[in-house]
Amino acid sequence: MRLITRLFALSLAMIATVSEAQTRETLLGFDDVSSETQRELEAEFDSHLSSSELDEWLRIMSREPHHVGSAAGSEVVEFVAGKFRSWGYDTEVVEYEVLFPSPRTRQLDLVAPHRFSASLTEDSLAEDSSTSRIDNLLPPYNAFSIDGDVEAELVFVNYGTPADYEILDRYGISVEGKIAISRYGGSWRGIKPKLAAEKGAIGTIIYSDPADDGYGAGDTYPDGPFKHESAVQRGSVMDMPTYPGDVLTPFVGATSEAQRLPREDAPTITKIPVLPISYRDALPLLEAMGGEVVPPQWRGGLPITYHLGPGPARVHMKLEFNWDMVTAYDVIATLEGSEYPDQWVIRGNHHDGWNHGAADPISGLVALMSEAQALGELAATGNGPKRTVVYAAWDSEEQGLIGSTEWVEQHATVLDERAVAYINTDGNSRGFVNIGGSHVLEKMANQVMNDVEDPQTGVSVAERRRARVEVSGNPQARAELKSRADLRISPLGSGSDYSPFLQHLGIASLNIGFGGEGRDGSYHTLYDTYEHYTKFRDPGMEYGVALAKVAGRATLRLANAPRLPFEFTALADNLSLYVEQIEELAEDMRTETVETNARIDSGVYALALDPTRSFAAPLHKEEVPFFNFAPLKNAMDALEQAAGAYAKITISGAAANEQQNKLLFTSERELTRDDGLPGRPWFTHHIYAPGFYTGYGVKTIPGVREAIEQRQYELAEDEIYVAAEVIEGMAARVRELAE
Ligand SMILES: [Zn+2]
Repeated sequence: MRLITRLFALSLAMIATVSEAQTRETLLGFDDVSSETQRELEAEFDSHLSSSELDEWLRIMSREPHHVGSAAGSEVVEFVAGKFRSWGYDTEVVEYEVLFPSPRTRQLDLVAPHRFSASLTEDSLAEDSSTSRIDNLLPPYNAFSIDGDVEAELVFVNYGTPADYEILDRYGISVEGKIAISRYGGSWRGIKPKLAAEKGAIGTIIYSDPADDGYGAGDTYPDGPFKHESAVQRGSVMDMPTYPGDVLTPFVGATSEAQRLPREDAPTITKIPVLPISYRDALPLLEAMGGEVVPPQWRGGLPITYHLGPGPARVHMKLEFNWDMVTAYDVIATLEGSEYPDQWVIRGNHHDGWNHGAADPISGLVALMSEAQALGELAATGNGPKRTVVYAAWDSEEQGLIGSTEWVEQHATVLDERAVAYINTDGNSRGFVNIGGSHVLEKMANQVMNDVEDPQTGVSVAERRRARVEVSGNPQARAELKSRADLRISPLGSGSDYSPFLQHLGIASLNIGFGGEGRDGSYHTLYDTYEHYTKFRDPGMEYGVALAKVAGRATLRLANAPRLPFEFTALADNLSLYVEQIEELAEDMRTETVETNARIDSGVYALALDPTRSFAAPLHKEEVPFFNFAPLKNAMDALEQAAGAYAKITISGAAANEQQNKLLFTSERELTRDDGLPGRPWFTHHIYAPGFYTGYGVKTIPGVREAIEQRQYELAEDEIYVAAEVIEGMAARVRELAE
């Protein structure tokens, strides 16, 4: 019946179907016939998605602040679990006992050259009724800051990155014994106190500069979406690049009977106290600073001259936290697969917010819920998934990916056996689709993007993304639009719940969201509300529906494909790019070192950052050796050949048996090693990791790249062999699959 209808349509509309046939290529992992069946199923799936329902759920779940351990958080859990049950899912609420610091004392005073007390509170606004429902509100703070009572002069450290400290060194300024004041941005927030402590600071203040996401960027809330003068970005400063999750239970699930570290021994709590503040509170502190004027690139948007210090501004900061154990609740909802119940496709988004959490995370969670509802409807009419689909709503993501990490650690053995892939979202907005993740899924991700229409323009979301790259100004990316059939998906660092799946267990993962047009300053502030979201981020929730279509297709294709839609030429292609980048990095560092040393020797050391004054010459740097990249290149060659051979099988559309599918989905595990990365054994993936000194930002082939960046040359040589071995392992797996 279906085929006849299709042939009839073909004869009726020749031209339309010619262009349709061009864009509607056979789906990876399916043959021509099963591709069409799958697309019909997806069209039906789409018909169950409703923007008004998304809007309704968003309003309900973002009514009140709902952080881990809160009463409103439990209500969200009940709401989500109740929905899953009503849609036919086998639903459980899993509990973990986790350490959750909340503020008891927060005090910040300027004590010299005059006195000022920071308010440390955000204003309720008449225009946004949510901002008055604040009984449960966690006041602004950084979770996993240590307790502290410190007084010292301020030093301005810009974004507080390694590069910023190098510049301070040129000025001869140290943060030793001082309090570092840093702006948000430039790196993940947790890096700021981590580096400041390594440099000897005794405290850190982080403020949001209006140049970045306040009035310097656009109209401020409630007139526009940007940061209100009182708004403060909360956030965790746990040392997640060492390990995420409950700080007391690395490697194991934080069940009530788990063995726990004493809190004093938890390595991921900061070494110095750290507090976030608004630009309204930062202004008097920065205004009272003296010393050198900051280099031009460091100037922010406040109406003052920015100075580096130290002093004469001197502050007293006192922070005390309730170090409570609270229960985190993950909702896990399962729909058993009809053909391969032991192969699990997992789809997750967190449910906890720092406050009302309308954008982060509820806007992503409502998309996930609508997908689950639609899949439940398909199952009710006999079109359920062939593989098992597990929907997860995680708790305590905001404090450090805690709910997801604990669940992954507790179920590591069964996940290693059964997890096919993990699809993550974490909030949404309007604009352009962003997909990051495992490159074995890049081809599938492109086919998904080609098949979903952009709500504003009517072209595919892939097309819209291409248009953005076209105007982005990145010449390499633009050139690739012509030379490369598919869009690259970006490698994943950290910052959301995919980390434990991808980087701890080697489960192929994707992270999906729309954004780019809904830029704003509400992130982790009191103003991340339903009112703000529906006015500025995604009015009408059309991009919420688009997200459900994209993530839903990825989930459904992984769940139903006769041959799992994994593919290796894109992996080889992206990996070869990373190898090239690392070679260039070593080369650039070598040239830079030689030139700098020569300039120091000739006594004409000048600094571009401020040519009007002279600086102390830096010390000679150690020469950068030539590395032997041959093992990596040989491994890449092997992978490219194997990937090419396997591509012939995927093109044939031949189905795979259960064993072959298992070889496919466990292939990502080949990129991990049990002993992990140097100095951080929890991170076992040797291709993707969050940077040790960038935080959320990704480092690809991190063992090699970071050793070179940190000038640990012997380690770099060793890590080249490790990375080569990992890639050889993947090449062997792909060869096996191709035979
Ligand atoms: Zn989030």
